Amino acid sequence: MTAYDPENIFAKILRGEIPSTRVYEDDDTLAFMDIMPRTDGHLLVIPKTPCRNLLDASPEQLAAVMATTKKMALAVKAAFGADGVTIQQFNEAAGGQEVFHLHFHVLPRHEGMPMRPPGNMGDMDAIASHAEKIRAALN
Ligand code: 5GP
Repeated sequence: MTAYDPENIFAKILRGEIPSTRVYEDDDTLAFMDIMPRTDGHLLVIPKTPCRNLLDASPEQLAAVMATTKKMALAVKAAFGADGVTIQQFNEAAGGQEVFHLHFHVLPRHEGMPMRPPGNMGDMDAIASHAEKIRAALN
């Protein structure tokens, strides 16, 4: 398996070298808004320690990330009055992964509303206001 690259974009976000819209963190995990949101409230949960994806993650990393993923799923459901929540996670390029630091997508969903197509930059003001709603739901 390819080695972890400490210059991947989420490692830079963790180190504060590039900006992100953070909504939650604890000792082991960070949740921040996806810059190309496929639904309003689309966020990502990552471990603070390095691993490429599910295939090289330790049980401890997975346990921490899953606990935060559940916390964030409940928060986005409450924040957006969602009917459901989609969790996505991709492994290696062939599996659809583009950023090689383990992450889980958390997407609030409404009945009958498809996800937007991938690859479109979100409006930063809208993302900031969605983040604020999620932070409020966590409190
Ligand atoms: P995946 O690796 O799961 O296929 O996709 C990576 C995800 O990271 C995409 O949903 C993409 O929009 C998001 N993403 C890529 N670059 C950045 C970035 O610089 N900041 C943030 N917040 N999200 C990013």
